[in-house]
Amino acid sequence: MNKATIAIDTKLPRQDAYGAIAMPVYHTAAYEFETAKEMANAFCGRVLAPDYSRVMNPTVMYLEDKVKALTGATNVFAFCSGMAAITNALLVFVEQGKNIVTSRHLFGNTVALMNRTFSRLGIETRSIDLLDLDAVRDAIDEHTACLYLEIVTNPQMEVADLSALAEIAHERGIPLIADTTVIPFTQFSAKRLGVDVEVVSSTKYISGGATSLGGLVIDYGTFPVVNQRIRFELLFNVGSYMSPHAAYMQSLGLETLDARYRVQAQNALTLARKLKEVPEITQVNYIGLEDNPFHDLAVRQFGKTAGAMLTIDLADRKTCFNFIDHLQLIRRATNLFDNKSLAIHPYSTIFGPFGGKQKAEMDVRDTTIRLSVGLEDVDDIFEDIVQAVRAIP
Ligand SMILES: *Cc1c(COP(=O)(O)O)cnc(C)c1O
Repeated sequence: MNKATIAIDTKLPRQDAYGAIAMPVYHTAAYEFETAKEMANAFCGRVLAPDYSRVMNPTVMYLEDKVKALTGATNVFAFCSGMAAITNALLVFVEQGKNIVTSRHLFGNTVALMNRTFSRLGIETRSIDLLDLDAVRDAIDEHTACLYLEIVTNPQMEVADLSALAEIAHERGIPLIADTTVIPFTQFSAKRLGVDVEVVSSTKYISGGATSLGGLVIDYGTFPVVNQRIRFELLFNVGSYMSPHAAYMQSLGLETLDARYRVQAQNALTLARKLKEVPEITQVNYIGLEDNPFHDLAVRQFGKTAGAMLTIDLADRKTCFNFIDHLQLIRRATNLFDNKSLAIHPYSTIFGPFGGKQKAEMDVRDTTIRLSVGLEDVDDIFEDIVQAVRAIP
């Protein structure tokens, strides 16, 4: 079956008492057992049955099963946010004295997780230009825990060469962990490109209209320690499992993901092409445009579509603020891949806490606006941008 069908047709693991057609929301903390022996088997992991909802819950497991069917993963774990998924995936591999080799372009909170939180625990982060494969090779040593990256960086829109980077990681016996949030896993196979562990902020495309926060760790089974540590250690001790209500909404979100994504990606491409013709916009950065330096690599890895995130550059910060203030349809908000189009000035918001020098090193510019293209009519989105670009302060 095709992925659009699988996303809708995943069967419930057992017959529901009332024949419910949607997976019910099991809002329960604990589960009752028939016998002491069954209880012992569940608690000791000899049988995979829910015993406590910090670790396992039927509604969350249903979402995990859907993602497993869609990705061909060995294990999927759902967490209460993308950051919780990233933290848990990294906690499998890091320990005091180890280092993470990663990109100099990363999501702001992931940078802070590594450079503040993990650095306090004696874990070093090596931020490298991932376009320089020799520099990546040189950065990896015997204390490297993993190679971590984002498939398309935001807001720089740099595309990682996953097969090449996976080969480097595997030569050294370390896993490649990839944050694939910006292109849905229904569009391409991270596993086929050599990714060992995929992390996704399901808050974005999957939640279906920014309904809830969530994160996924998608484990392709190449490093058995992932399943052992997450299932039997981290879920218990860290306690950041997804809530049943969020899992219910995100299961519904998965059902419409393919349909929503197709429209959003098409809108983004149409919009990017039209925005190139607007003289006030100095640059349009979208990997779906044929003249984008990463276009061919993106097509090779992710297929025909290029996501719904793009950036535009305007003359200076003042012009960017004026543009944002004059938007009438597009919302002034962070987040990505809502049904509604969103605009943000990353330099002064997401990257606000970082210093000017740090932002320059990360190639985050004062002139850039990030757009997340929604499901509205694309002509209306375009008209809103043009009127805001031309509005007099
Ligand atoms: C939003 C985002 C995250 C964090 O996810 P949350 O669900 O907000 O915790 C991580 N990586 C990328 C690329 C994101 O866009």
